[in-house]
Amino acid sequence: MATSSRTDPASGRYEPLHIAGDAARLDAAARASIARAAELGRSRFAARAARHDREASFPFENFADLRAAGLLALCVPQAYGGLGADFATHALVTAELGRHCGSTALSFNMHAAACLWAGTVADQLEMTPAQRADHEAHRAWHFAQVVGAGKLFSQPFSEGGAAAAGRAPWATRARKVDGGYRVSGRKIFASLAGAADFYGVLCTLDRPGASLADALYLAVPADAAGVQVVGDWDPLGMRATSSRTLLLQDVFVPERARLLPEGLYHQAMQRFPHMFTTLAPTYLGIAQAAYDFTVMYLRAELPGMHPVKRRMYPTKQQAVAEMRIRLEQTRALFLQTVREARIDPDDDARQRLYAAHYTVMENASAICALALRTCGGQAMLRSLPLERLYRDARCGSLMLPLTAELCLDRLGHECLYAGAEGDESIE
Ligand SMILES: Cc1cc2nc3c(=O)[nH]c(=O)nc-3n(C[C@H](O)[C@H](O)[C@H](O)COP(=O)(O)OP(=O)(O)OC[C@H]3O[C@@H](n4cnc5c(N)ncnc54)[C@H](O)[C@@H]3O)c2cc1C
Repeated sequence: MATSSRTDPASGRYEPLHIAGDAARLDAAARASIARAAELGRSRFAARAARHDREASFPFENFADLRAAGLLALCVPQAYGGLGADFATHALVTAELGRHCGSTALSFNMHAAACLWAGTVADQLEMTPAQRADHEAHRAWHFAQVVGAGKLFSQPFSEGGAAAAGRAPWATRARKVDGGYRVSGRKIFASLAGAADFYGVLCTLDRPGASLADALYLAVPADAAGVQVVGDWDPLGMRATSSRTLLLQDVFVPERARLLPEGLYHQAMQRFPHMFTTLAPTYLGIAQAAYDFTVMYLRAELPGMHPVKRRMYPTKQQAVAEMRIRLEQTRALFLQTVREARIDPDDDARQRLYAAHYTVMENASAICALALRTCGGQAMLRSLPLERLYRDARCGSLMLPLTAELCLDRLGHECLYAGAEGDESIE
């Protein structure tokens, strides 16, 4: 019988899987970005994660490292001096970060997604020539803030109502004034609150009868008058995301704050549904980390542990097999869906997106739970990372707009109804 191929020939120790499973399928640029993230994660972020989790403090030094490594410009198009990563590369880099520090990965994602939306997503949307020219000028300024000045963006959408689920207009309002907008509202769970340089705020253009179509995506500078971070952040998991409450009180932003032209967020939401899958990669990384932890634990290769092997028990082998199967199912579906990210995906790709997002979020949590059960009592000690992975993983399926419940809701409906199909009333 073949022995494991996953051991380092020199040390004989388990060598964790590549985040992509098969790295040979990636191009050189993607491999290089993932390798950079892996190096930072292994050598720096993993060691800092426990303290930031305990203190619920934002990992500023991780973002200084990401900035120095050029990774804040990962999803800025090459034409603007960035690395020009596509959806799949963004996903794998974020997942790699998630192996080492879930909060850093989730916060990084908020920043990178803002670049993707203003970059590759916007490129595929329909705009008038005037809107396109306007957008080019605005994003050139914002991308220069990232590439030249290392500025950090966040994505505070949630308001505690139906808006983040896409079912009601944003309660945060932007009133058009001379030279820009005045923005007022309240955003809950605003990851990077107090850490971001720009808050990418979703709001509604204030006009009579304003609807979902009047959504506006504005970069609000953190130091603008009327911006305030309030409340505390003491959650179960993802404690280092600093997702406090953001208050916007009549904040003036100039015209160039538009990260998408008026009306274009609504088009993006409808035509580019993969834009919301960027929350998932962090949780794939966490699932991978829980699997790797379990293998190393059972092989008695975790640094600092009493070297008692547990791998010889059939129950442990079966549990690891089950974890590996779930992990491979998750990765396969996830990679397929991020590689399908494009404008106007067909019905199958759209439905697969819900299936993939649901699978990543639910399986990450399930894999971490299996890891805890399999490794046993000592594995829940706070001196080891597994209990943090377990708590962090639980947050994924709560995140709007694609919570586990809403994935099921949309998938079930879309599988049964084509387009605008309805039901005749039953007599
Ligand atoms: C660690 C973490 C970080 C986060 N970071 C950010 C961030 O950076 N930016 C941001 O904007 N948000 C962020 N969120 C918030 C997140 O996306 C959700 O908005 C938030 O968790 C919702 O909390 P809630 O209590 O208001 O839930 P609710 O909105 O009440 O939702 C509860 C459940 O009800 C269901 N539901 C909600 N609305 C509807 C509807 N209209 N129809 C059918 N079902 C519905 C959903 O399935 C959901 O699971 C973060 C959340 C977490 C856990």
